[in-house]
Amino acid sequence: MQRLLNEASQFREEMIGGYTAAYGRYLRRVPGASGVIANGAPAQGKVGVVVGGGSGHYPAFYGLVGRGLASGAAIGDIFTSPPGEHCYRVAKAVDGGAGVLFTFGNYSGDVMNFGMAESRLRAEGIDARTVLVTDDVLSAPPEESDRRRGIAGGFYVFKTAGASAARGDSIADVETLTRHANSRVRTAGVGFAGCTVPGQTAPLFSVADGKMEVGLGIHGEPGVRIGDQLPARELAAMLIDTLLADAPADAGSQVAVLVNGLGGTKYEELFVLYNDVAMLLDRHGLQPYNPLIGEFVTALDMTGLSLSLLWLDDDLRAVLDATAASPAFTSIGPDVAQAGGAASTPQEISAAPIAETTVVDDDAPGGAAGVQARAALRRALAAVESSEQELGRLDAAAGDGDHGAGMVRGFRAAVEAIADDSGTARRSFTRAGIGFQNAAGGASGALVGGWLIAIGSALPADDDAVDAAAVARAISSATETLQTMGGAQAGDKTMVDTLIPFSKALTEVAQDNVTLAAAWAAALPAAAAGMLSTVDMISRKGRASRLGERSRGTQDAGATSLYYVLQAFGEAFNS
Ligand code: ADP
Ligand code: MG
Repeated sequence: MQRLLNEASQFREEMIGGYTAAYGRYLRRVPGASGVIANGAPAQGKVGVVVGGGSGHYPAFYGLVGRGLASGAAIGDIFTSPPGEHCYRVAKAVDGGAGVLFTFGNYSGDVMNFGMAESRLRAEGIDARTVLVTDDVLSAPPEESDRRRGIAGGFYVFKTAGASAARGDSIADVETLTRHANSRVRTAGVGFAGCTVPGQTAPLFSVADGKMEVGLGIHGEPGVRIGDQLPARELAAMLIDTLLADAPADAGSQVAVLVNGLGGTKYEELFVLYNDVAMLLDRHGLQPYNPLIGEFVTALDMTGLSLSLLWLDDDLRAVLDATAASPAFTSIGPDVAQAGGAASTPQEISAAPIAETTVVDDDAPGGAAGVQARAALRRALAAVESSEQELGRLDAAAGDGDHGAGMVRGFRAAVEAIADDSGTARRSFTRAGIGFQNAAGGASGALVGGWLIAIGSALPADDDAVDAAAVARAISSATETLQTMGGAQAGDKTMVDTLIPFSKALTEVAQDNVTLAAAWAAALPAAAAGMLSTVDMISRKGRASRLGERSRGTQDAGATSLYYVLQAFGEAFNS
């Protein structure tokens, strides 16, 4: 794992240096302390809110220092509680005469160090109090909920404290409301792989292939148990069930929802999970309120995520709705955010994309050619399915590695589009091509889909007229269409390099009075030679063309997949 740093020992200092240099419009460094405070702190007559903990969790905790959020944060080394002295100095720096509330995750190092700071403030006559975040339901059973760790749900606890303090609540009220938020938030999480500390070479823990840690910690602690990895929808159900089993008394039906990525799991994956979460909440009669999806508490580059639910009431909704601005979180308030209308109802999404088949205006009865055409398309699907990995690898050499997946998606939709079809070869190819184009995407989706449609449109309207010569004319015309669409010539290292020699050879042999199967078999070697000739070419079309000389030496992905398709068609014509 490549890490960006200078000397490991200077990591924290340089990190804070860069952060404060960039975000001086929100916050500043506390002189002589490892911590930051919001511009405008101390606010006279208002409670100061201090958060903090080890670093390695950004945007927790110092990313939440700003307006309407935390007044200050003490920043420890990676995964290490900040020393008590620094917690104290940050707290002193935000004390505006109305008391200081500390709120942080329930970890013994933090409890001790922030605890020392709290005692010192009290000894000086400052009303200092602490609310521990204990949202991780998997870290201790309900009867020992005060032993639970604090993880991503802490965001809501910090937001509550910050908003309550900002509107001028007394220290007693800030504490009560913050405690109330903590008592109504629940989080459950899973980890897929460990994380590596800057300056070290090995991850803190590792997870066996196909497994996940359930009930993760955010310091590289393994989870409380090991489970099998699950698809998003089963993971969502598991997390929701876990949280609902632990719902607070008189919970109500409105929940704030937070999906937190641990640092190595990307936003797109979190959206996939939320799609299932939203559906399940709906099924349980719960209404999500302003869901948040992203990184709120990370553990360096750990992959995994957590789901938090905060059961709302009017008091909590008010603090959540309050405006806030910090480097990591900005809220402009509910009115503007909801101006676009109500949240959309989640919808079940079927596993396979369904191709929209526009009805082709062609009702001629199908014959043997139609049957053969559909067999050919099904064979092609099987061929690209069994070569999906190989096609991906070829595309990855100079492109983006998605060619195998795109071809499989395309042919699946093509085959689906003709599932109920009993019409002519012309109609089946056209329908299949439309299905392919709608589903596959990418350059090849447009091109191969267009090629299949063009074959269909160039075939005779009457299945009885489909012979070797007619098919050769259709292939030739479709290949020209593909060239017009993509602008590629022979020698540009594309699928055209397979199709042109094949089409020429097929046209030649089809002039004699041969069957389609025989003509096709006779032309295939020309396609193979064309495919192989792409190895030495430099790519001049498509994504790979940016690589120049570096694209030489690998067989073109599209030339390869089209060869497999032609080969599969041939097998179908033979049987
Ligand atoms: P994308 O490039 O959008 O990721 P794919 O990976 O599915 O699409 O397809 C890549 C293949 O598409 C290439 O290997 C090449 O054969 C073919 N290709 C790309 N651009 C063209 C083009 N302009 N004309 C013909 N074929 C092309
Ligand atoms: Mg590609």
